[in-house]
Amino acid sequence: MDFMVQIMGVMWRFRDRFRFRKNKKGERYRGLCELNKKTIKVGSHVKDKEHLEIAIHEVTHAADWYKDEEYVDQFSKDLATILYDHLGYRRIK
Ligand SMILES: [Zn+2]
Repeated sequence: MDFMVQIMGVMWRFRDRFRFRKNKKGERYRGLCELNKKTIKVGSHVKDKEHLEIAIHEVTHAADWYKDEEYVDQFSKDLATILYDHLGYRRIK
């Protein structure tokens, strides 16, 4: 599912359920934020709470590219836990 979305006043392409290829180590990206292409990708293999966390993670990078990885990682995990574990948010499509 692809859609265009505004993040902090800038239009981004959001590519959900993106089919990442495995690298040489057999690993696969869960998500990616490409500043130069204004594109966010969330992997087709991430589900449920992890999907929520990765979507938040990549949008947070897009919102402020200069936040470091540690901040973005902790913020996205914390917000995903609040939304998923405590407030009961679930994906319906
Ligand atoms: Zn990141």
